[in-house]
Amino acid sequence: MTILFISESDNPDEWRRALQKLIPNIDLRVWPNVGKRSDVHTALVWKAPYGALTNLPNLSLIQSLGAGIDHIFNDPQRPKDVPVARLVDPELTRQMVEYSVLAVLSRHRRIDELRRAAADHLWHVPQPTPFEDSRIGVLGLGEIGLSIAQKLKSFQFLVAGWSRNLKEVEGITCYHGATGLKNILHSTDILICALPLTPITKGILNKDTLALLPKGAYLVNLARGEHVVEPDLLQLIEEEHISGAFLDVFQTEPLPESHPFWKHPSITVTPHLAGLTIADSAANQVAENIERIAMGKSPLNQVDPAQGY
Ligand code: NDP
Repeated sequence: MTILFISESDNPDEWRRALQKLIPNIDLRVWPNVGKRSDVHTALVWKAPYGALTNLPNLSLIQSLGAGIDHIFNDPQRPKDVPVARLVDPELTRQMVEYSVLAVLSRHRRIDELRRAAADHLWHVPQPTPFEDSRIGVLGLGEIGLSIAQKLKSFQFLVAGWSRNLKEVEGITCYHGATGLKNILHSTDILICALPLTPITKGILNKDTLALLPKGAYLVNLARGEHVVEPDLLQLIEEEHISGAFLDVFQTEPLPESHPFWKHPSITVTPHLAGLTIADSAANQVAENIERIAMGKSPLNQVDPAQGY
């Protein structure tokens, strides 16, 4: 069973070890050392160079090394007849939830204000933020967004979520569609973006949509940088309509040294680490998908190319 591994940020040795525990006859080849191209049945990829998946005549599965698959669909030379699967992994989801809790509690417990006071050695005790002033809105109620919403609900926050199709989730106010987006934004103090990047969601957080948030609202983006129109966010923060942001993802990564987000006192920047793929955990789904394809079945978490997620 030959796998072509293409990623600059994941460790091929860890993946080889993890997969061999599950499928002992794995032959994992690391790009660009493809060897005999007809051997390759599975491509395990994260941000593969465009064209790297062409001329692999027996390729039968493109498996993303992360939950997002925009990096695969962006490749105009991607073989269109090969199924694409995204990663759904409990450890990845757990980390994303953990990151969201960190961002929300930092804002709710006013960590920025406390840091500023501490820098001046001030024993400053702010009044607690009432729960009704920290209404949470989660954009995207998929594997990750729903888990984030449910965890935050367990802290007794008022939580709402937005998805493409209407959902019913106990304890969470669910919105969908274009009208639903306006409604959730109107009633959200801390907005968390957990959407996939698709032609429809690209640039979804811009001056028009962010302006619908109540004055003083806060943005957490742990999905993709291209969801946010960065100059619009900066402008709304400068105008004090948005009070700040906790950002893990950016239009250009690594974030350029001269980017204004780095120095902005109301913006926390983290280097795209909200959810990192851990081979030992994620290998289970990959091995299962390889076996499913060998049995002529569809892979788990296959992406619908028409929807782009
Ligand atoms: P899912 O595919 O499981 O969920 C996507 C959700 O978004 C669904 O609820 C879907 O609605 C909703 N959605 C999609 N398009 C629209 C739309 N046009 N309007 C309204 N709602 C829409 O994705 P995951 O939860 O697994 O992942 C979310 C994203 O998180 C990933 O795509 C990736 O970009 C990001 N990510 C970031 C990481 C990081 O380290 N920063 C790590 C891992 C993931 P419906 O349910 O109706 O279909």
